[in-house]
Amino acid sequence: MGTTNKELAVRSDQVFIGTYTRYPAAMVKGAGCRLTDAEGKEYLDFLAGIAVCGLGHCHPAVTAAICEQASKLVHVSNLYYTEPQTELAELLTAHCFADKVFLANSGAEANEAAIKLARICSGEDRYEVISLAGSFHGRTLATIAATGQAKFQKGFEPMPEGFAHAPFGDLVALKSMITDQTCAILCEPLQGEGGVRPLDLAYLQGLRRLCDKYNLLLIFDEIQTGMGRTGTLFAHEQMGVTPDIMTLAKALGNGLPIGALLTTKRIAAAFAPGTHASTFGGNPVAAAAAVATMKVMLADGFLAEVREKGNYLHAQLQTLVARFPTLALNARGLGLIQGLLLTEAGVQQGGAIVNRMFAKGCLINFAGGVALRFVPPLIVSCEEIDQMIGLLAEVLAEVAGEI
Ligand SMILES: *Cc1c(COP(=O)(O)O)cnc(C)c1O
Repeated sequence: MGTTNKELAVRSDQVFIGTYTRYPAAMVKGAGCRLTDAEGKEYLDFLAGIAVCGLGHCHPAVTAAICEQASKLVHVSNLYYTEPQTELAELLTAHCFADKVFLANSGAEANEAAIKLARICSGEDRYEVISLAGSFHGRTLATIAATGQAKFQKGFEPMPEGFAHAPFGDLVALKSMITDQTCAILCEPLQGEGGVRPLDLAYLQGLRRLCDKYNLLLIFDEIQTGMGRTGTLFAHEQMGVTPDIMTLAKALGNGLPIGALLTTKRIAAAFAPGTHASTFGGNPVAAAAAVATMKVMLADGFLAEVREKGNYLHAQLQTLVARFPTLALNARGLGLIQGLLLTEAGVQQGGAIVNRMFAKGCLINFAGGVALRFVPPLIVSCEEIDQMIGLLAEVLAEVAGEI
């Protein structure tokens, strides 16, 4: 017998700083939308490592690219050129508004780079970034300052200066906050951690107009919404709004740690040699994984299927809203990032619903204290969606019967 879930949990809890509340499973392998734990129990994964494994676990094309690159060259730093990172930047710029790329290792680092770029690009006396209530931008000091949820800042004060938060979806309020110090507006086109909360098109278009009028940079944090998640490679493509800077991470490397900042030639020129850097950023193995991931996503029909399956998941969630009105208020989302917004009574049971799903072998989570979040691998099948919905219907029936 190998290590049990319990044994590994005990060993881990002894040596790790307690920053995570974990489910009692030690995952040992994955394939597609399935994970297997140390005791052989299988899970249907509708979380995908928090919207990371867009192509599912151990996609053969990505695994092959990682193995091949790892056998040739793993790391040299950015003092030298390597082809995988160049190919990745070429692919990214060929498929969006940007001409220039900076590669980092995570979402928070990509946002840090974006905040630094916005400041250095705007001159000394313009440094303030306005972001939105309910947003999530990362866990570094600057990115928790940008994050519009007090719980992430609590205990870590004083916050770095130069951040302000506008109420969600209120353009007039945001406009009134713009000052001579403002340099950028930062937002997610659809808030993920905040509870799968979309911003409407008129609002996003209004942000673009405000940025143009007041000479501000519009930064879209597409760390969660990017890489096909919403049914287009980037969510903003569907909104008729082009940002000046976009940040990516999560699904970019299908599980290898990599983040990116993308922007135009003009804005990128503010970052000169020595102004910003990363030892690991654009690491050849992570970059090779990202190249392989992008090639699969860009193949004919892939994104159209994401849209179709997203619509199917959304429709199935709506049927649960109709069946369980005491628990569920509404389904919302775009493509394969969907949320089931819970009623007040439902919110009280949010954690319990996720735990019961876990016990039945299905992974989902509860986001922003308001919605169940479904971010399966983009390769999920309609049969797997039906399985998840079946399990969720069982759980909601159990919970509804008890309250
Ligand atoms: C996850 C996430 C981040 C932070 O990414 P890390 O890789 O955890 O640093 C930032 N913004 C959004 C929208 C995210 O979903």
